[in-house]
Amino acid sequence: SIGYVNGRFVDLNEPVIPIDERGHQFGDGVYEVIRVYNKKPFMLREHLERLQTSAEAIKLKLDQTLEQYEQLIKEAIEKSALTDCDVYLQITRGVAVRNHLFPDVSVSTTMTVRPAKQLPHHLRENGVSAIFHDDERWANCYIKSLNLLPNILAKQTAHEKGSYEAILVRDEYVTEGSSSNVFIVKNGTIYTTPLSKHILSGITRMAVKSIIETEGLTLVEEKFTKEDVLESDEVFITSTTSEILPIVTVDGQKIGTGKPGEIATTLYQKFQEKIANE
Ligand code: PMP
Repeated sequence: SIGYVNGRFVDLNEPVIPIDERGHQFGDGVYEVIRVYNKKPFMLREHLERLQTSAEAIKLKLDQTLEQYEQLIKEAIEKSALTDCDVYLQITRGVAVRNHLFPDVSVSTTMTVRPAKQLPHHLRENGVSAIFHDDERWANCYIKSLNLLPNILAKQTAHEKGSYEAILVRDEYVTEGSSSNVFIVKNGTIYTTPLSKHILSGITRMAVKSIIETEGLTLVEEKFTKEDVLESDEVFITSTTSEILPIVTVDGQKIGTGKPGEIATTLYQKFQEKIANE
C-alpha cells in the first residue's frame, strides 16, 4: 500500500492533512475510486473524465491534465507493488484559513493505493440483501463529491438491519444505491434508472450497459418504483468495488426465486471477460 500527497509518495500512516484543508473542513472536493486488476486500472479514462465533470460542476480547477493523472496513478500502482488494488484519488480546493468563499490557493491532490477489497465468496454466490431508504441527498448526485453523509447514514442503517446495501427512493422512484447503481430484470428485460442529476453515472453501470448491448439483451433506461423492485425477477447492483452483485431480498421480501438470477450471473461472467480483455 502507498499514499500520495501533493507531489510526494508517503507511508499511509504518515499524518499529512493540515487543519485548514478544505476537504477535511467542508468536504469541498471530489474523488474517484478506481479498481486495478492485474496491475491495470480498469476503465481509467472513464473515471478521469467523470472526475473532470465533477470538478467542473463544483468550479474546482484541476491543476493537471487527465494524461498527467493517468501517469500519476500508474506510478502509484507501480510503487505500491500491488497487483489487484483500489486507487482512491481525491482533489480538494486546497488549504486556507476557514472561509466559505473560494481561496486563491492550489488544489490538493491525495491518493491511496490499497489491496482490493474482496467481497466474501459466499455473498457473491448467494446474493445479498438490501433495504429501501429515503434518498435524503441533495439535487446534484451526479457530482462525485466528498459530501457523503446521507450515503453513509443509509448504508449504516442497512448494515444495522443485516443488509448489504440501501436502495434509495426519491419521490416514489428508485434512484440508486448508497454506493452503487441499481438494475432490475422483469420478463427478460433489464431496467435501470436513467441518468440525471439525481444519480451518479457509474462506470460499472457503463460497462454493464455495453455488455448488455453486445450480448443482444434489452436494457430500458426508465424510472421504476419500490413495487417494481419487489415484483421483479432479479435485482442487482453495480459498483467499482462490488462489480455486479445480485440482491436476493429487499426489506425482507424475496426477489424472484431468492437466488442470484440468470441474467446477473451471465453479466458477471461477461464482466470478468471484459476485465481480462482490457
Ligand atoms: N452511485 C453512487 C452513489 C456511488 O457512490 C457509486 C460508487 N462510486 C456508484 C453509484 C457506482 O459507481 P462506479 O460504478 O463508478 O463505482
